[in-house]
Amino acid sequence: MSGATRNPVAVVTGAGSGIGLAAAERLITAGWKVAAFDRDEKALAANYRERAEAGRVFAASLDVTDEKAVEKAVQQARKVFDGLDGVVNSAGIAADIPALETPVDLFRKILDINVTGTFIVSQAAARIMKEDGGGAIVNMASVSGLRGSKGRSAYGASKGGVVILTQVLANDLARYGIRVNAVAPGPVNTPMVKAMHVDKDRALWARHLPMRRYAEPDEVASVIEFLLDGSRSSYMTGEIVAVDGGFSGAGIIADD
Ligand code: NAD
Repeated sequence: MSGATRNPVAVVTGAGSGIGLAAAERLITAGWKVAAFDRDEKALAANYRERAEAGRVFAASLDVTDEKAVEKAVQQARKVFDGLDGVVNSAGIAADIPALETPVDLFRKILDINVTGTFIVSQAAARIMKEDGGGAIVNMASVSGLRGSKGRSAYGASKGGVVILTQVLANDLARYGIRVNAVAPGPVNTPMVKAMHVDKDRALWARHLPMRRYAEPDEVASVIEFLLDGSRSSYMTGEIVAVDGGFSGAGIIADD
């Protein structure tokens, strides 16, 4: 946080649902002002109208792949709240589909939103943070960006891209006082996963998770808040923090 005399300010993309919504809620509770962006206008209206009226939130529809719109939106957020200290890049899409059946258009679309969108928002925000003396960015990787999970050729490639993008941005932006980290969640109970995982998928995941359960969105949001807060994670940058119930650290898991 660099705002000493005002509330810290964060841009949250994908703020209309799931992890982005939980992150925005956490940050608001912790005293942040939040620019909540999502391409789903209805979700923004349903979740933020009251908080916008109270002056805690500025909500606007935005497609993170539209670089001109992103630049405008990020500048507007800084103007409305008189600063910009943090970014949460949670906008994303997923597909679980065998590699040989994955249409190239779908592959391109997933990379465009998940990787290029993260880059566009980070670049626009970092240009402002550089002028203002620093800040923090948290990207959304995934265990599917660290391991070759089945059916994840596009999604896994996009999240692998987010991992290395996070490390490069951390390297390039450290000189401006900007820290860049990512969380790599395992399965989280969000609308995205509820739409994708049938009982068979849940049972399969449970077999590979030492904690035997999916995360709740707030269990990821609490780590995001920690990584944004320069008073608690000041010496962390370029880090990919697994929030995965033990998945990526586990070897053989007992049956019982
Ligand atoms: P979700 O579908 O609940 O929320 C994603 C939000 O992003 C939606 O509100 C959607 O409208 C928005 N969005 C999609 N494309 C957009 C675009 N082009 N511009 C602006 N907004 C856009 O999903 P979630 O589960 O909360 O996922 C959030 C992030 O976390 C994603 O990047 C996802 O890949 C990642 N993640 C999720 C899980 C999980 O198990 N849920 C695990 C690992 C990583």
